[in-house]
Amino acid sequence: MLKSHVVRKIIQIGNPILNQKSASIPQAEIVSRENMQLYQDLIDTCEAEKEGTAGLSAVQIGELKRAYVVRRLDLDREDDANPIWEVMINPTVKILGNSKSIIWEGCMSVGTGKNRLFGPVARPDHVAVSFTNIQGEQQTHEFVGYMAHIVQHEQDHLDGILFLKYVTNPANLWPNSKLDKYLDKHNDFPTPL
Ligand SMILES: [Zn+2]
Repeated sequence: MLKSHVVRKIIQIGNPILNQKSASIPQAEIVSRENMQLYQDLIDTCEAEKEGTAGLSAVQIGELKRAYVVRRLDLDREDDANPIWEVMINPTVKILGNSKSIIWEGCMSVGTGKNRLFGPVARPDHVAVSFTNIQGEQQTHEFVGYMAHIVQHEQDHLDGILFLKYVTNPANLWPNSKLDKYLDKHNDFPTPL
């Protein structure tokens, strides 16, 4: 039996583990008890996050393993009481097409609560992600827009990269509280400088 509702501590920026590359999970260990607990902990830790989140990588809870969880916002709604989470193990991301989109991203490892930082990130808008699921099956999903950003953001974590790398002007980084106020007032994100 897995221990449910284990909320793990999120590692914050400044800890060098976030800049390290995670290792592939060997085939024989993908559904090991220890790793099944890791996948469940990733989901439970996301669900416990009051400010909401769309994804979390194993490195962010201190395990340098190539696995992350993403919220399937293409299948459920942001205010849904029962979010759909998908665990992606040993994922690879393939970029499809040439179009890019700019979406405001934040990260559970880049500030907490009102001080979490958000910024506009340009990424390819259409990707295919191939991964092993928690049943040990190989899967491929295609994503566009916001979901494409989420998987690329999480995939970057596995290679030690934070989204801040793409926000070249620090004036474009907004704390959660300030961005929320702006969104309330303008109903749209600020124009990047
Ligand atoms: Zn992140």
